[in-house]
Amino acid sequence: MAVVTMPKLGLTMNEGTVSRWNKKVGDQVEKGEILLVVATDKLTFEVEAAESGVLSEILVGEGEAAAVSAPIARIGEGGAEKAPASDPHAPAEEKPLQKAAPATVQSTPAAAGTKKVVVIGGGPGGYVAAIRAAQLGGEVTLIEKGALGGVCLNVGCIPTKVLLHTAEAYTAAKEGALIGLRAENVSVDWSGLMARKKAVVDTLVGGVGTLMASNGITVLRGTASFASPKEIDVALNDGGRTTVRADAVIVATGSEPAVPPIPGFDLDGVITSNEALSLDGLPESVVLVGGGVIGMEFASIFSTFGVKVTVVEMLPEILPMIDGEIVSILKGVLLRKGVVFHTSSKVTAVEKKGKKLAVSVETPEGKTVLEAEKVLVSVGRRPVTKGLGLESIGVAVERGRIKTDKRMETAVKGVYAIGDCASPIMLAHVASREGEVAAENILGHTVEMDYKTVPSAVYTAPEIASVGLSEKEALEKGFRVKIGRFPLMANGKSLIMNETDGMVKYVVDEKYDEILGVHIIGPRATDLIVEGALALRLEATVDEIITTVHAHPTVGEALLEGAMAVRGQALSLPKKA
Ligand code: FAD
Repeated sequence: MAVVTMPKLGLTMNEGTVSRWNKKVGDQVEKGEILLVVATDKLTFEVEAAESGVLSEILVGEGEAAAVSAPIARIGEGGAEKAPASDPHAPAEEKPLQKAAPATVQSTPAAAGTKKVVVIGGGPGGYVAAIRAAQLGGEVTLIEKGALGGVCLNVGCIPTKVLLHTAEAYTAAKEGALIGLRAENVSVDWSGLMARKKAVVDTLVGGVGTLMASNGITVLRGTASFASPKEIDVALNDGGRTTVRADAVIVATGSEPAVPPIPGFDLDGVITSNEALSLDGLPESVVLVGGGVIGMEFASIFSTFGVKVTVVEMLPEILPMIDGEIVSILKGVLLRKGVVFHTSSKVTAVEKKGKKLAVSVETPEGKTVLEAEKVLVSVGRRPVTKGLGLESIGVAVERGRIKTDKRMETAVKGVYAIGDCASPIMLAHVASREGEVAAENILGHTVEMDYKTVPSAVYTAPEIASVGLSEKEALEKGFRVKIGRFPLMANGKSLIMNETDGMVKYVVDEKYDEILGVHIIGPRATDLIVEGALALRLEATVDEIITTVHAHPTVGEALLEGAMAVRGQALSLPKKA
């Protein structure tokens, strides 16, 4: 039996946190193989197995810390070897640091002045709330039943953007001739792309583990439910149960794909975004059910990679929450890539037809049947609130979503809810901000969530980003509006990048010149929108954008010119007769 200990990698290293185990108990380990990833406050490194054998016991779980030289696992020769009760290699002073999951009821009250905060769910809402609560002096326990990072890091924002990045690079290489590059035989290495996606996800998930450890947050691996507003039962992943007492609880249990009860949606080949991110290979054809953000991102990815894409959307237009002019530019680009749209149309059934799926659709022109290798259902997501015992403690849940006030507190004092399980906007950055708001309110501050300045981003090619009111919304709210438009055809940097499909559009209050909304479609739109969000946050007028010097040449200059266009004074547009 060999004991694996926490290595010392640097003079100042006293402890390390296990970010990831590459093996599980019972797995064969070969000498020299990367056994685990350890993080310190300075670096992350891979630890090789010093011996071959079977990993018989993991003593320090992912997200937990251990002192240098402390035993963290055991490797035996096979079978279910367990450590002897008293291990001569593990002197008392070298026991893993007690940040690990407690095995029994946590009944000790918080020290005077210290609040015990329990966060349920380790997605971008939960883990940010946990960090903020720890920063403000809370004693924090985070309970996560799956992987840290939640949907966003594991099957949402991050993996989709890895795929989109490769799609962008693929387009650049294929269209190289247009910018003086000769790239021949460019093709998609799907398994290479999947491996890169995994590496990026693993790094970020490991990073969250490190952040938990460095902020002194206890991570419990298991499924939480309320025994009472201040007692959380946890069914631990590795068996057993524990109860954690809290002064305040933040529920951040996220969401899952909604799959409507349409005949055939349970067939093999009918998938959600979860499976679409881990396909064995690129399908030849896909019917996308739902033309929202997730659907359009997949439409962009798949059509770029040459997959035949058909979109079926029930509403009259795709991306209904985005300004219509902006959507029509994206639609034009996707149509050029061969994407077929059926709007105001409804999928009624899916059936197997040989190796393909036959999708029955009611369109305004009549019934039709579409054939495809895969059907990707992306009609929305539903909050995860079942099984938490919310109703039994008096938390109000409306159509699956937890109700809160602007401080993110529920009807039950001390119980807060944030992110996809509670929020009116299901976005990672909204979940994170709500997490900060909840943590700050718990720890003595008074903060309200402001949704007015939340930017939204659609990572298609070209990208779309917007903040504030669309023209239609502003008019519906009774504003008299002025509009400024600037096409990227007239922006030098967009021309350099050969990405001139796009525009900037300002929606401005005629009376005070205050900016009500900023909408961008084009390269780097999702990075540029921060200027619009800040403008809305600071209640900026058009004048403040115009008098801010913008670097040249940048796509950001289009934001400057768009503001000038509100006054009909864009410098790079021909003067109107
Ligand atoms: P989640 O990320 O869902 O995390 C909740 C966590 O709680 C999960 O890890 C879950 O295991 C855990 N949990 C649930 N119940 C329990 C329990 N009882 N006990 C213990 N743990 C529990 N948003 C963006 O802002 N930008 C994007 O580009 C973007 N792209 C996306 C792409 C896709 C394909 C998808 C599906 C979503 C995307 N989103 C994007 C949305 C984003 O992922 C979510 O808004 C975000 O993850 C919500 O964070 P959260 O913390 O509320 O919940």
